[in-house]
Amino acid sequence: MTSFKEDVLSRRTFAIISHPDAGKTTMTEKLLLFGGAIRDAGTVKGKKSGKFATSDWMEIEKQRGISVTSSVMQFAYSGYNVNILDTPGHQDFSEDTYRTLMAVDSAVMIVDAAKGIEAQTLKLFKVCRMRGIPIFTFINKLDRQGKMPLELLEELEEVLGIQSYPMNWPIGMGKEFFGIYDRYNKRVEQFRTEEADRFLPLDEEGHIAVDHPIKESSLYTEAMDDIMLLEEAGNDFSREKINSGELSPVFFGSALTNFGVQTFLETYLQFAPPPQPRVADAGEIDPLNEQFSGFIFKIQANMNPAHRDRIAFLRICSGKFERGMAVTLARTGKSTKVSQSTQFLADDRSTVNEAVSGDIIGLYDTGTYQIGDTLTGGKPVFQYEKLPQFTPELFVKVAAKNVMKQKSFHKGIEQLVQEGAIQMYKTVRTEEYILGAVGQLQFEVFEHRMSGEYNSEVRMEPIGQKIARWIENEEDITDAMSSSRSTLVRDRHGKLVFLFENDFALRWFQDKHENIRLYNLMG
Ligand code: GDP
Repeated sequence: MTSFKEDVLSRRTFAIISHPDAGKTTMTEKLLLFGGAIRDAGTVKGKKSGKFATSDWMEIEKQRGISVTSSVMQFAYSGYNVNILDTPGHQDFSEDTYRTLMAVDSAVMIVDAAKGIEAQTLKLFKVCRMRGIPIFTFINKLDRQGKMPLELLEELEEVLGIQSYPMNWPIGMGKEFFGIYDRYNKRVEQFRTEEADRFLPLDEEGHIAVDHPIKESSLYTEAMDDIMLLEEAGNDFSREKINSGELSPVFFGSALTNFGVQTFLETYLQFAPPPQPRVADAGEIDPLNEQFSGFIFKIQANMNPAHRDRIAFLRICSGKFERGMAVTLARTGKSTKVSQSTQFLADDRSTVNEAVSGDIIGLYDTGTYQIGDTLTGGKPVFQYEKLPQFTPELFVKVAAKNVMKQKSFHKGIEQLVQEGAIQMYKTVRTEEYILGAVGQLQFEVFEHRMSGEYNSEVRMEPIGQKIARWIENEEDITDAMSSSRSTLVRDRHGKLVFLFENDFALRWFQDKHENIRLYNLMG
C-alpha cells in the first residue's frame, strides 16, 4: 500500500504540444506501449486504420475521423503514474486545446527536425509560457534528413525566446543516423541496434570508451565538436530554470522507429514536476492537502448520442476523489453526491473509484457544470482562479433558419456559450449575433449540436478571419469609429470589442485613434 502522499507525488500530468504531423500521435502511442496501456500501436487515433479510439465519441468525430475531445490517457511506469492529456490538433484545434494546457503540470513539445518551430507549436507554447510550466522538447524524425541540430537550438531560442539544454545530441542524421550522444546518462545510444549492444559507455573525457569504427568517422568528430561547443558556450543545466519554464531540456530521437523515446520518458519522469499548487480565492492550495478539490476545464457533450448527457473533465488539485462522495459546487454552493465518474484510458473507459491530485476524472453532467467551476469535498468551500479566455480568430454571423423558432435558438446559443463551446458577440449597431472560435471545427460542432440538442437549425455566414481587440477605455469610443473594416461588437459580458479585418486595419485604427487603448486576450 502506498500512502496518499506517495500517490500524489507519483503523478506526472502533461500535454503534448506540437504542430500537426510532427509526430504527436506516434509519440503518444510509443509512450503508452511502454506503459503497457495499449498493446498495438495504431489505437490512439484511427485516422488511417478506420478504428476509433475511445476519445472519439461524437457523431461528428466519426464522420470526420478526428478527435474533438481532449482525451486523457493514464499509465503506470516505473513507480510513476502518468496522465497524458491530448491536445486536439488538426482541423479540431479549438479553445479546448488551450484549456487543456491549464490542467497540466508540464508540457512536452514535439518538433519535426526538418520543419523546426511551426505556427501551432508557437501558439501552444505561448500558453505554456504564460503559465510558467516546464516545457520538455523532443526533436523528432532524426531518421530523416532535417535541419542541423545547432540551427534547431538557435530557432528554439530565437522564435520561442526560451533557453535550451540538450540532454542528448545526434550523431549523424537521416541515412547516416548513428545514434544519440547522451550527455545526461553518459552513454551513446545506437540507432537500429539490438537491445544488448545498444549502449556504448563514455570515458572520463566524454569519448566512447570502447573500440568502435564510428570513432574514426567524421560524423562522430562533428558531433563531438558540437558537444564541446555546447559545454563551453551553451546554457548550464539548471533544475530551477526547468521548473520555471525558462530552460527547456532538449532530446533528439525518432518516435516512429521508437528510438530515444524510452530514454526521453525516463529522464522526463525524473525532472518533470509532480502536481503543483494552484491559486484559489482562499489562497494557494497544496496538492497534498487532504481535502478534495478540483476544477472543470472542459465539458464534452453528447458522448452517448442516445442521451443528452455530457462529461465534465475535472483536474483534481488536492485530496482524494472517491466514488459516491459529496462535493460542493462553489459557484452555487449546492452539494451533490458524485456517483457516476469515469477514468480515461487509451482503449477503455472504466469507472473510477479513487483518484488523487494530478489525476483527471470525468463526471457525468446533466447541465450542472460550467467550465472553470470548482468542486470541493467538505469545508471550506473555495473557488480556483478563473480560466483565461482565449482570443478567437474566426468569425461567422449566425441566425435561426426558422424565425418562428427564436426561443430554442436563444436557449441553445446561451447554453453552448456558457459551456465554453463557442464565443458569442453582438454587433452594436444591428444587434446581430456573431460567433467567434479558435478553430473552424467549433462552428461545425455548434451547428450539429444546435440541431441535435436544441432542435434549432442555424444559418451561418462566414465573415472570415478577424483580429479581436478589447478596449480599456470604453467611454472614449464613439459610433463613428466603427466601420466595415472595424466592426464594433459586445462580448457576452457586455464588453466592447473591435473586430478588425486584418493587421493593416488594426494599425490604421491605432494611428488614427491614439487615445484608444486596445488589448488582447490570451492565445
Ligand atoms: P501528429 O499529427 O502530430 O499526431 O503526427 P503523427 O504521429 O500522426 O505523424 C505524422 C506522420 O509522421 C506520420 O506519417 C508518421 O508515421 C510520421 N512520423 C512520426 N514520427 C516519425 C519519425 O520519427 N520519423 C519519420 N520518418 N516519420 C515519423
